[in-house]
Amino acid sequence: MSPQNNLEQTAQILRLAVPQMSSLQIPVTPENYAVWYEYFAETNLNLKRAIDGLIANNVVFTPEVNQGLYNRFIEERSPEVIENVQIETQILINSLFSKIEQLSEGTEVFSDTLVNFGDELQQNPSPDSLNQMIIGLAADVEKVIANNQEMKQSIHSLGQELTTLKSEMDNLSKVAMTDELTSLNNRRSYEMFAQEQVVLFNEKHVTCCLLVIDIDHFKQFNDTYGHLVGDKVLAYVALALKQAVKGEDFVARYGGEEFVIILPDTRLEDAVNLAEKIRLRIAQKQLTIGKENKQQLGNITVSIGVTSIQTGDDEDTLLARADEQLYNAKGSGRNCVKYQ
Ligand code: GH3
Ligand code: MG
Ligand code: MG
Repeated sequence: MSPQNNLEQTAQILRLAVPQMSSLQIPVTPENYAVWYEYFAETNLNLKRAIDGLIANNVVFTPEVNQGLYNRFIEERSPEVIENVQIETQILINSLFSKIEQLSEGTEVFSDTLVNFGDELQQNPSPDSLNQMIIGLAADVEKVIANNQEMKQSIHSLGQELTTLKSEMDNLSKVAMTDELTSLNNRRSYEMFAQEQVVLFNEKHVTCCLLVIDIDHFKQFNDTYGHLVGDKVLAYVALALKQAVKGEDFVARYGGEEFVIILPDTRLEDAVNLAEKIRLRIAQKQLTIGKENKQQLGNITVSIGVTSIQTGDDEDTLLARADEQLYNAKGSGRNCVKYQ
C-alpha cells in the first residue's frame, strides 16, 4: 500500500473509531484505541468477530470487557500498534496542514487576473473591448468570491478536525505515560526520562542521581489487610514521594510496590539526604483507613538504593547500580538507605 493510501486509511479509521468508542462509552486509552483501530482496520478477523458478537448481544463495554479484548487480541503487539497509531496520526496532522497551505495559495490566481487586465487596458482601449474586459473581470470576481467562501469553509472544518485530533493525541500520549493507580509517571515514561538524562550527562556533563524505593514486606501487608487497602497505601506512598521532591525532579512507579526518583543536577550526598528524609517520613506515618471508624494499619517502611550517574553509564547500568544498593538495604534489615 502506498504511503498516501496508508495515510488515508488511517484517517478513515480514526474518524470511525473515535465516535464509535465514545458512543459505546469506551475511554480513548492507548489500549482501547489499539483494539478499535484493529477492529476498523479489519486486519484481525478474530477480534472483529468477537466485538461484533459483543455488540449483537448488547454487551456493555465495561473496563473488564475492554481489558479482556486487549489482553486476548492485542497485548503482545501493543507497543508497536500504539506507536504506529501515534506516528500515523502525526503524519495525518502534517498532511492536513499542507492542505491548508495549498488552499491559501488559491488566492494568488486572482491577482494574476488583475495584472492581465491592466496589461490589456494599456494595449487596447476601445470602448467595446473595455466592456468585454469588464464583463470578464466581473465573472472572475464572482468566481473568486465563491472560491473564497468554499476555502473558508474548508479551512474552518480542517481546523476543527485538527483540534480534535490534537486533543486525542495529547490524551493518548498522556495516558500512555501515566500509571493508573497512582497517577505518577509509569515505567515507560521513566525509561524515556532516564535515557534523556544519560544523553545530558554525556553531552553536557549534567549529573543526576537515581533513587529506587521498594516497600518492605508488602506482600505480608496485603495478606493482612487485603489488596484494596494495599492499593490505597501505594497511592499514599506515591503522594509522599511527590511531595518530597520539587521542580525538575522526576517520580515514577516502576511497577508493583517499587518506585524510582531521578534528581537532575544533584550530588550523591544531597540525594542520600533526601532519601533518608523520605524513608523517615514514611516510617513515622501512622496509617489509618476509614473516616469515622478509623482502622489503624500501623506503619510501613521502605528500603532505598541510591546512586549517581558515572562516566560510561547507560540507563541499564545506572538502574542496576541503584538496584544493587536496594538489595543491600534489604539485606541490612530493611527500612534503610544504601548508596554507591
Ligand atoms: P521485600 O521487603 O523483600 O520487598 O518484600 P515484599 O513482600 O515487599 O516483596 P515481594 O516482591 O515478595 O512482593 C511484592 C508484593 O507487592 C506482592 C504484591 O502483593 C504486592 N503488590 C505489587 N503490586 C501491587 C499492587 O498494584 N497493589 C497491591 N495492593 N499490591 C501490590
Ligand atoms: Mg517490597
Ligand atoms: Mg519489589
